[in-house]
This record gives sequence, C-alpha cells and structure tokens, in this order.
Amino acid sequence: MRTEQAGAVRLQDYKPTDYRIEQVHLDVRLQPEATRIIAKLAIAPRQDDGARHPLVLDGDQLTLESLTLDGMALPDTAYSVKPDRLEIFSPPGRAFELEIVTSTDPSANTKLMGLYRTAGTYCTQCEAEGFRRITYFLDRPDVLSVYTTRLEARKSDAPLLLSNGNLIASGDIAGSDRHFAVWHDPFPKPSYLFALVGGDLALLRDTFTTRSGREVDLRIYVEHGKEDRAGYAMDSLIRSMKWDEDVFGREYDLDIFMIVAVSDFNMGAMENKGLNIFNDKYVLADPQTATDQDYANIEGVIAHEYFHNWTGNRITCRDWFQLCLKEGLTVFRDQEFSSDERSRPVKRISDVRLLKAHQFPEDAGPLAHPVRPTEYSEINNFYTATVYEKGAEVIRMLKLILGDEGFRNGMDLYFDRHDGDASTIEDFLACFAEASGQDLDQFALWYHQSGTPSVSAQVERRANADEIVLSLTQSCKPTPGQDEKKPFHIPLRYSLLDPRGGHINAAPNTVNGKKAEIRDPATVLHLRDETATFQFTNVPHDCIVSLNGGFSAPISLDSGHDQASLAFIAQHDTDAFNRWQAMQSLCQSALSTGIAALRSGREFPDPTSLCDVATAIVGDPGLDPAFKALALTLPSEADIARDLGKDIDTDAVQEARWRLKSTLAASLRAARDRLEPDLAAKPGPFDPGAAEAGKRALLNLLYDYLGAEDGENRADAEAILLARFKSANNMTDRFSCLTTLVQSKFNAADEALDIFYQRYKNDHLVLDKWFMAQATAPGRETLERVRDLTRHPSFSYANPNKVRGLIGGFASGNQAEFNRPDGAGYRFVTEICTMLDKTNPQVAARLLSAFRSWRSLEEGRRAHAEAALQQLADGKPASPDVADIVQRCLT
Ligand SMILES: [Zn+2]
Repeated sequence: MRTEQAGAVRLQDYKPTDYRIEQVHLDVRLQPEATRIIAKLAIAPRQDDGARHPLVLDGDQLTLESLTLDGMALPDTAYSVKPDRLEIFSPPGRAFELEIVTSTDPSANTKLMGLYRTAGTYCTQCEAEGFRRITYFLDRPDVLSVYTTRLEARKSDAPLLLSNGNLIASGDIAGSDRHFAVWHDPFPKPSYLFALVGGDLALLRDTFTTRSGREVDLRIYVEHGKEDRAGYAMDSLIRSMKWDEDVFGREYDLDIFMIVAVSDFNMGAMENKGLNIFNDKYVLADPQTATDQDYANIEGVIAHEYFHNWTGNRITCRDWFQLCLKEGLTVFRDQEFSSDERSRPVKRISDVRLLKAHQFPEDAGPLAHPVRPTEYSEINNFYTATVYEKGAEVIRMLKLILGDEGFRNGMDLYFDRHDGDASTIEDFLACFAEASGQDLDQFALWYHQSGTPSVSAQVERRANADEIVLSLTQSCKPTPGQDEKKPFHIPLRYSLLDPRGGHINAAPNTVNGKKAEIRDPATVLHLRDETATFQFTNVPHDCIVSLNGGFSAPISLDSGHDQASLAFIAQHDTDAFNRWQAMQSLCQSALSTGIAALRSGREFPDPTSLCDVATAIVGDPGLDPAFKALALTLPSEADIARDLGKDIDTDAVQEARWRLKSTLAASLRAARDRLEPDLAAKPGPFDPGAAEAGKRALLNLLYDYLGAEDGENRADAEAILLARFKSANNMTDRFSCLTTLVQSKFNAADEALDIFYQRYKNDHLVLDKWFMAQATAPGRETLERVRDLTRHPSFSYANPNKVRGLIGGFASGNQAEFNRPDGAGYRFVTEICTMLDKTNPQVAARLLSAFRSWRSLEEGRRAHAEAALQQLADGKPASPDVADIVQRCLT
C-alpha cells in the first residue's frame, strides 16, 4: 500500500454535517480592492436532539469584520476565528441566524478562486472550494441552501450585476453613484454552484420555448465588440436545450439562462445554476479567428455545462469523491449530443484519441486513481481525465450492457428518485440495477479499481470443422494503493469478417464450454472472469475476429492480429472505429521497428504495405473525408511513446515518425491532386458544419504531408505552403498551414509567424495559438524561443490560457524538447511551476502533470526528470496543489 498522505481526506470518514444552512442571504458591496460581504445564514441543527455541537465553518484567507447570532454580537469567548476557520463553540440547539461580515480584495486574487477581477469584470469561481474565499461557510456539496443575493456596485464600474436564479429587484441607490440588483434562486444548491458577475459587458440575446411551453430568456455576455462572435455558442445552447428534452426528457427550470465569457479562467467553464461562467475560448468564434476544432469544442462545452443543470445541479454530489457522478455522466451526455449533431464514428474516434492521450498515461503512471477515488489531499488535482473521460466510458459501457431502453429507464428512475439530493455512485448504480433487474456489483469495479485493463485475444482454428475458439484473458497492472485487482466486467462488441469479403452474423455456440444463451442481436461478448473461451461454429475457419468495436470498453487490447489481418480490417471492417484502430496499429508497428532500427544504427525499414493501405483508404469513395483524415493521421509522438511503454528515447521517436511521414507523403501526393477539386471550399460563406469541416480536415492533412516530402520536392513544398497560408480565407486553413510550416522546419515559418502576429496582435485568443505553434516546434532551439516568449509583451503569467498555450504547449505538446536529453526542458518547467505555485497553484499543478510518465523514459532522461522533481520537492512548494503532484510523482 502507498503510505497515506498527511492531511488527506478519506471517503471512509464521511459524515453529514451537524447543521444545515437552509437560507443564505448575501449582500455583496463590490469594490475593486475591498469588497464587503454580509452573509446572513439561516442555520438549523440536522438532528433535533437539543445537543449543542460546535459549528465549524470553512474559510480561506478571510478577514472577519463582525459576527452576530440572532442579531446579537457574539462575545470573543464564544468563538475562535482564523483566516481558514470560524468555530462557534456552543450554538443554540435550535434554528438561528448567523450574520458574518467579511472583506476581500478581488483585484489581488491571482488564484482565480472565489471572487476575483478579470479585465475589469468581477466574477467568481467556487468549485471545488472557492466559496470559502468569499465568506465562512459549510463549504461542501452536501449542504444545500436557497440563495438570495444582493449585489451593489458603482454604476460606472459595473453597470451589469448578475447572480444565480431570477432577478427580483434592482435600482439606483439614492444620493450615490451606486446601484443594486437582487437575485433569487429557488432551487436549493451547494455553495460550489454560487456565482456572481459585475461588469460592463455586451449582450447577445435569444429565447427558447421549452416543450411545456415556457419561454426562457437566453443571454450570452461577452466583451464589448465581440458580440458577433457569440452566435455559434447561442446556436449550440439552443440545440443542447432541445436535445436534452428529446433524448433525456429534461427541461430547463428557470426563467433565464445566462452565460458570461471571461478571459482569465482556470477551467474550461463552470455550470453555476442559471449563470454559467466560461473561459472565453469556449464561447467566441468566427471564421477568421476560430478553427473547426474550436467550433466543435464550443458546441461540446456549451452543451456540457448546460446538461449539468440536471446532472450536477438538480442532483449534485454528496462529497467530492463522487465528482464522476456529475462529470463522467455529463461528459457522456455531451459526447452523445455531439455524436447526434455531427458524425458519430468520427466523434467516437476523436473522443478515444483524447482518452488514450490523456487518461491512459494517467492510469499507467504515479497519478493513477480510481474513477471514484477514496482519498485526496487536494481536490483540485482530481479534475482529471480519469474522473471525466474514463468516467464517461463507464457510463457508455453501462448503456451497452443494459441496452438503450434499460439505460433510459435507469436514468429516469435516477432523476425521479434523487432530484434535489446530494448523491453517490452507489445511489446512481442502484437505480440501474433496480430498473433493469441486473446485478451490477462486478460492473461497479470500474469505479473502484484504477489502471487500464489489458485484454489479449487468441484464436484457435479448426479447419475441418469450420469452427473457431476465441480465448480472452484480462489483467490489470498494479497502480498506487492497488496491488491486486479483481476481474472487470468487460463488454466487447465484436464482429467476424470473412477474408473473402463480407460480415458473418454469428453468435458463440458455447461460452467456457457451456451452451451459450442466445442473444439477439449477437454483437457483444461479456468477459467477466480472468479468462473466457467463446466457440463459434459454422464459420469460415480463417475468419477474422474484430474485437472492441466502437471502443466498447476502455481497455488496452492485444488482438493477436498479423499485419495482413490488420490491413484487411483497416480496409473492410464495417466498424469505422476498428478500421481507424487497425490503421493506428499498423503505424505503431512500423514505428516501433523503425525506432529499434534507428537506435541500433540500422536502416529505417520500408513501410510499403502501410503505404498501400493508406492509399486505398484515401481513395475509397465510400468514406467520409473526416474519417479519412483521422485514419491517415499518424499517431502523435506521445501516442508512440505510450505504445512503447518503456525505455523511451523521445528523439528517436520523433525521427522515426518523421521518416514514416516522409514515406507516406510520397504515396499520398497523387491523392491530393486528384481529391483537391472536391475538397476545396465552395464559393459562399464559411460553413462550420461537420461535412465541410471534414473536407477541410482531409485537405489540410494532405498538405501537411506535403511538408514532409524530402529531396527536390522540398523547396516546392515550402513555396506552395506559404502561398496557401497567405491566401487562406479562414482560420482552420491558415492555422493548419502555419503549423505545417513550423513543424516541417521551413525557413518560411518565421515569415508566416510574423504575418500571423501582425494580423492578430490585438486578439488574445488567437495569440494563444501563435504561442502554442512556437512552443510545439521541433528543434533544440525551441526552449530558448519559449523562454524569450515568456518576456513577450503579449504573454502574461496571470492569464491561464497564455500559460497553457506557451508553457503547457511546450511541456505536454512537445515531447522531444520537454524531454531533451540534457534535462533543460524539465528544469525550465519546474522553475515556472515554482513561480506559479505562489500565484496560481491550480495552473502550476496542471503543468506539472507533464511529468506523469517520467518513469517510462530511458535512463538518462529519467535521471534528469527525477532530479528536477526532487529539487522542486526540496524547495517545499507553497501550495498543497503542487506539493501533492510532486509527492505522488516521486512516490
Ligand atoms: Zn463538468
């Protein structure tokens, strides 16, 4: 077992609070440097036993100005107060009102938690534990209260005053330059869903009529002059509201729904009841400033936060261990929404790519934790790919196991039974078990056991009997705190392919030697034990078993296929995901032999058969261009490293990938010439829809391959790409060409970067891309360039998007340079984390997660990474966020 961390919070220690806070009346007097908060809390003992339990409220860097109980000032002997804690020793054993007056300096709040200012706007972020930076409170999700919020500010400073719920009063304050607004939210909610905004913002308005006929006022607030860029966000919101009614039967419940976009924000967005606050990169888009990926992200994040209104807000989490209850489920819901709005297979492949890029390494390293953890020392570090993305995969498997109807029945029961509750994973699963009559105890292990299960498949063939026997074996490596794992319930979609063409419809005849239950349609194999055998009769003995279709389970699969079978699957499987996966496997196999060859000084092997498959895919008229683009995208350097698993030399990875890309480039040249007329944009306005975006993705990918051509074609390629960059009429094409010029190390890259900067120097969101493009550039000179860019006038450590673009781009997006063999990349990132540790620890801790795979590197790099982490640990990090990540990385 891992040694337990000091100060850790444990699930087993959960107990309800002694007190409820039924009503909260906040009166917030906004001032840039000294905002006063008067909180009137209607408190009652949870148990009416007359006992006088002490009341302990959470705080964080608070200054108490006054304290009264039922209108009487409390004597000093009745309480103790510190910036992080207020204890009332012996409150009355009945309901009472506590009035707490605190003050805070929003302008000095660089952590961006609690109340802070961004570009002159007051805003809040309270999840997970930010409300305690506004007032003393029982700041935990199982304390649900009805909030009434009065805001007051100078009219010139904040003409707009917003909070949760509905506006019930507003007006000027006579004899002053100030005004006020009062908001009331009738739905009891935990403090993490509280929000307020004060500022001067532009407004985009629309309405939505719910299926029961109520009209909802929809408002998106953005910086002045950017109203024109909020249209796609509004369109996404309206489509999300309709979809949640159609697919989950969920209707919106307040008269108004507001989104406010701000530029300094730690997270992507926040689902505060009725008043979502967004990182503006997930709101603002137009063809000249946003890529197709940005449009897709906006649609997904707008939907995600809206869907939280039911999965998160109406039913919230009992404690932070249950974070996946709202996040995994809501990610699943937003993925389904985007799948319905766009291409389902393309969306699925994109989601799995993200899962493998972010969650698989987490599960394989020192930061691994279960989807529902049992211990944390800093909850901010658990907003992870495991909780979000793997949490969504668990819901997806649940739906597959129960079927569409069984899943919907379980969801309906959950909404019905737990509306207004602070719930747990056990409550959630119980609804599905009850609605379907299925025992989900083994399935629940997906929530409790960390690590990615491995499944290996073997096929025994009986030529004379037209029969095959498929054997599956599962295992899961030890992860921190979990040496032994029980077998998971792994649902595997499958199909049998006839190598002469065609799909074979066959169900197993026996499972583990016993006659199988006949299920119709026969599409899923259930692996519940460590091993299982499935016998199929009356099938061609040479048929190909295609497993884990649609990535039905988040596992690492060793399919046992040879190259010829993979090539067949890549070209002929009916499951688009498995076609993509087979292509990835072929690339990975070519790359791993290539890397081994390069490291031992041998010739890079010839990947002719891979080139043939790639040419067949790009030329297949039946395939969607967006799918072709995904299938022909090589695994990233991080993907390759993850596949190798150990002894990684990131320079050899980069070199091998480039060699393979150059070879494929020559094969794909003719395809580009042939397809370009069909893929090029039609005249008319820019269309951000999935079909046109898919064409752009494929054409840009084919031009990206052009950048990898070598020999005499290189000079031509540079000229063509620069011209294409200059003539691009949308950001997708422009940024794609810029990235290709930089990644291909053309001299013209500097000219293009300069043109890009001059055009967008006043647009902070586009500049994030400019920083990122340079941070991810190949070459030993990149580190110096990144260092110089930290002093660029457009860069600021106070803006999380800038830090993520430049420093995060380097640490997580540039494998070869972050993992330089001299260790300078590690030292640069830990230096910056040491600095940010004092101003914005959440952002610092995020950056540090780039170290999560350090143990899989070759010896020299590993030693440098460890030394950099150790130095950071020796310097005693100021924040629990950074201390926690460093400690776990080193354990
Ligand atoms: Zn969320």
